[in-house]
Amino acid sequence: MPDSTSFCPDTPLRNAVGDKSAVSVHKAFGYETCGDLLHHFPRRYLDVGELTRIEELPLGEAATIVARVVTSEQRRMQRRKGMLLQVTVEDELGQAHGRLTMTFFNGYKAAKDLAPGTVAMFSGKVGIYRHALQLAQPEYALLETADDAEPRPIPIYPATAAVPSQALRAMVAMVLAGVDAGAYPDPVPGFLRAKHQLPELARALHAVHAPETVAQGEAAKNRFRYEEALVLQMALAERRAHRFRQPATARVGGVDGILNRFEDSLPFTLTPGQVTAGLEISADLARDRPMNRLLQGEVGSGKTVVALRAMLQVIDSGAQTALMAPTEVLAQQHYASISRMLGPLGRGGQLDGDPDGTRVDLLTGSMPAARRKEVLLRVASGETGIVIGTHALLSENVFFAELGLVVVDEQHRFGVEQRDTLRAKGKLQPHMLVMTATPIPRTVAITAFGDLEISSLAELPSGRAPISTYLANLYDERYRERMFALMREEVDKGHQVYLVCPRITEQASEEDMSPLAVDDGGEPLSTGQLAGTSDIPTPSKATVEEMFERISAMDLFSGIRVGMLHGRMAAEQKAEAMSGFESGETGILVSTTVIEVGVDVHNATAMVILDADSFGVSQLHQLRGRVGRGGLPGICLLATWLPPGHPSRRRLEAVAATTDGFELAEVDLAERREGDVLGSRQSGGQNTLKILRVVRDRRVIEAARIDAEDIVASIGGMAAHPELRQLVHSWVDEDMQAFLERG
Ligand code: ADP
Ligand code: MG
Repeated sequence: MPDSTSFCPDTPLRNAVGDKSAVSVHKAFGYETCGDLLHHFPRRYLDVGELTRIEELPLGEAATIVARVVTSEQRRMQRRKGMLLQVTVEDELGQAHGRLTMTFFNGYKAAKDLAPGTVAMFSGKVGIYRHALQLAQPEYALLETADDAEPRPIPIYPATAAVPSQALRAMVAMVLAGVDAGAYPDPVPGFLRAKHQLPELARALHAVHAPETVAQGEAAKNRFRYEEALVLQMALAERRAHRFRQPATARVGGVDGILNRFEDSLPFTLTPGQVTAGLEISADLARDRPMNRLLQGEVGSGKTVVALRAMLQVIDSGAQTALMAPTEVLAQQHYASISRMLGPLGRGGQLDGDPDGTRVDLLTGSMPAARRKEVLLRVASGETGIVIGTHALLSENVFFAELGLVVVDEQHRFGVEQRDTLRAKGKLQPHMLVMTATPIPRTVAITAFGDLEISSLAELPSGRAPISTYLANLYDERYRERMFALMREEVDKGHQVYLVCPRITEQASEEDMSPLAVDDGGEPLSTGQLAGTSDIPTPSKATVEEMFERISAMDLFSGIRVGMLHGRMAAEQKAEAMSGFESGETGILVSTTVIEVGVDVHNATAMVILDADSFGVSQLHQLRGRVGRGGLPGICLLATWLPPGHPSRRRLEAVAATTDGFELAEVDLAERREGDVLGSRQSGGQNTLKILRVVRDRRVIEAARIDAEDIVASIGGMAAHPELRQLVHSWVDEDMQAFLERG
């Protein structure tokens, strides 16, 4: 083979496909080299073996047909902006039975491709439009004639309007012709390929882009998934190893210190989980390597006590600690509850304090400047042992005399970079404890948090009453009445009630949008009629402001004080609303999900979540954890307009069916789109995950983690595998780049 047709992974793309194509591919995907393009994998394959006749098209399902274009008509749409292309086709497979319409929204490219007489393979979901079958936005591949329907599967690529799948197929074919094993050394070591029976790189590239069967193409894809998982796990393993080489000050604690005094005063016995987590953390702190640990446990599992014990051990060692919470409300609550738990021990240096005590301070952005300054001084002088705050703790003018431990609460609200900023405030790396109430399935933990050790609190402290959860059908007036009656009854029993709404006001804003976007497939002309839901009117989402008005005005609730809490209120108002509810003066609190995390009002026994379908599984679970905290049984109503059988109702049914947070985390994971799983802010390298999917590929990820640990632990480490090392390092570089740009 002459040299000119052999392309290396880093051969510029233009050498293979010409300037014009290279420019458009670069614009569309950012690719520069042949290697980049070859790693643009088909989303799926069209298989001749799956062909269906028009007359047998399954309504509501995906189907693939070969057909000839009969008419093609582009027209302006009446009710929305844009053009609609309608193409009618005739079956070429059967005896030309029946015709079918295809619709393309703004299908300019399709209009060119699909002139009458053209034969193509089409694939899409079969729907009904104006009483006739149609395929909306089908994918297609042009064929010479129907007989020519190649026996090979046709790869369908992620494409753009400028660079359609068709064009990508042609370019990939050009590049692929120059791929041989010599030019493409395999980053996956041979022994691992053998272990998992994976094809070698050059062969896999051919197989993924031009497979003989769909199965072969999918097998090749699996190889690349594994490769991606291995690179990710190697990077994480290196990061762990690197962190382990950092020096830190050991904080051994003392025998007769504040920790001991605190434990003597604890009004309850620790749960076995708290004891174990405590031992793990205590041992970490006593080492001269920075602790980097995630403490996960359900709402109410008692993470705060565990964190506080760790803080006291560090204070006994002569250093300071910081606790960072995601919101001011939470910071204030932590401040209140930690001060309360410590009692005189938390008022060291004050008149009514214990002489052996330490000082607890609150630092938030909304504090008056003078008070802020006092706190800053105490933190800088070392007088403050525990400083609690929001991200205000990260600002440049916060100096610590000796920062020994950083505790981050509700970690999913913070990005990796923020943790790192706070960590940088110690002279040596301080120890770090991250707390989260969202149980993280192991797969996600080892992907997104692969550099953290994990402690889990599996059980709740005894004496916690169960929470019963029910669905309430808002479209049924009897349910609505029962719902309000229940709220009244709870208040009459001397308890308190949360009423949670998905929005603050009518105008949607980013802040009060529910974070869960349900993926409906995103087809512009989807066949909503088929789902049987479009004729049921869904009122706009309940808002805090409107519900507050309505509840306050209802006769049923006369004599009950109603409060309101949401993120757009001023800090003072928020604090007032919270304290009104905490003291029991407020019987019903209408709020957004600001109460989602950390709020702890023991007397609250009932929660009604309006339009519960707006929320994700984990979020609902977390929300309901706010009730039944004081030994009184809790009740949670998930109120929804969705009719039985609606797919989104399944989520609610799952929440009603179990209180096992780990089980629900798995449900949640399966429901969410991939991007939401890792969350752009918390994943180490989300941007670079190409075909690996955390949920689907959990086995692959687990296997790769074991392999990565093996490599790191064996002689020569990763250096013994130069191709792999190069890939890992370029991955880490890109990751770091993205990381810096985000900050
Ligand atoms: P989390 O932060 O994990 O949601 P908290 O730390 O706020 O939970 O604890 C919830 C409540 O349980 C607090 O009122 C706390 O004092 C109490 N608590 C913690 N540990 C125990 C225990 N071992 N026994 C009884 N109550 C406990
Ligand atoms: Mg908490």
